[in-house]
Amino acid sequence: MKRLTTTLSAFALGALALSFAIPASAQDKGTVGIAMPTKSSARWIADGDNMVKVLKERGYGTDLQYAEDDIPNQLSQIENMVTKGAKVLVIASIDGTTLSDVLKQAQAQGIKVIAYDRLIRDTPNVDYYATFDNFQVGVLQAQSLLKGLGYPENKGPFNIELFGGSPDDNNAYFFYDGAMSVLKPLIDNGTLKVASGQMGMDKASTLRWDGATAQARMDNLLSAYYTDKRVDGVLSPYDGLSIGILSSLKGVGYGSGGMKMAVVTGQDAEVPSMKSILAGEQYSTIFKDTRDLAKVTADMVDASLSGKEVTVNDTKTYNNGVKVVPSYLLKPVVVDKGNWEKVLVGSGYYKPGQIN
Ligand code: BGC
Repeated sequence: MKRLTTTLSAFALGALALSFAIPASAQDKGTVGIAMPTKSSARWIADGDNMVKVLKERGYGTDLQYAEDDIPNQLSQIENMVTKGAKVLVIASIDGTTLSDVLKQAQAQGIKVIAYDRLIRDTPNVDYYATFDNFQVGVLQAQSLLKGLGYPENKGPFNIELFGGSPDDNNAYFFYDGAMSVLKPLIDNGTLKVASGQMGMDKASTLRWDGATAQARMDNLLSAYYTDKRVDGVLSPYDGLSIGILSSLKGVGYGSGGMKMAVVTGQDAEVPSMKSILAGEQYSTIFKDTRDLAKVTADMVDASLSGKEVTVNDTKTYNNGVKVVPSYLLKPVVVDKGNWEKVLVGSGYYKPGQIN
């Protein structure tokens, strides 16, 4: 028994010495709660993985949760993070307007809140916003749509239809407005025709970014407005919607038997869409390097916890209904058949062979 006690206390002493010897461990720096919307899209999986990797490298503990696009689920995940004493919350919200109560509680406990990719709206209790230039995403999508149509060499007129993202996601309005800043003048002068007349987020949005919803709407558009003419292009704000839109188009013969596929845009450079681009179906997508977003966000975590100045590059654009949230905007890049290899494989985002 004596020997056991001695061994135990020697062990305890050793453990104590060890705990002093370990520098900034995850415990010392605290835990960062990371709330992601869904695993149904590869981009959010990459976001979560990159955040965990970068934060671990910097000595933080992480609590990563996915809510499968269920709003109450995300809310209770965040409540849980607050209860467990997270130091910072990094949140990519499902519905950017539903988090006010839990964030009030977080702020009262001194927890910093960073809106990740999507703005959190209608609350003063959000400290920073890390995202991409969302208006520019829309501009690039529209420019790429025009390039695919062969404009300006080809003068048109072209028939197009417009799809917007989820109406509870602030980004969706920025994408749509960015795209319309390019398309609207050409709609007004007759170069582009929207046969359905369905314009504006109130008519073109797609709840929860759901591909099946987009496919059903495209089916309806084709049967109601395009039985006697073709649709030349479709503005799609996200790869998951583009896949639905493309299968609707294929269903009525586009892309086969001499019937040219319509020009369809996208966003996120997800693998199925990249394969579709290489197969000559989807025309383009937008690449947003989630490794950079994770790094910028981790910098915000570090700086805000150590009382240093947080680096932002935009203090005007993102008014969340209560205040302008200081933001860091990264640059989105348009990807099509011409540059995918350089942009996606060259940067190491995808491994050779992962797409083709
Ligand atoms: C993101 C996009 C994404 C979309 C659907 C948006 O908030 O910014 O990158 O395509 O959500 O997940």
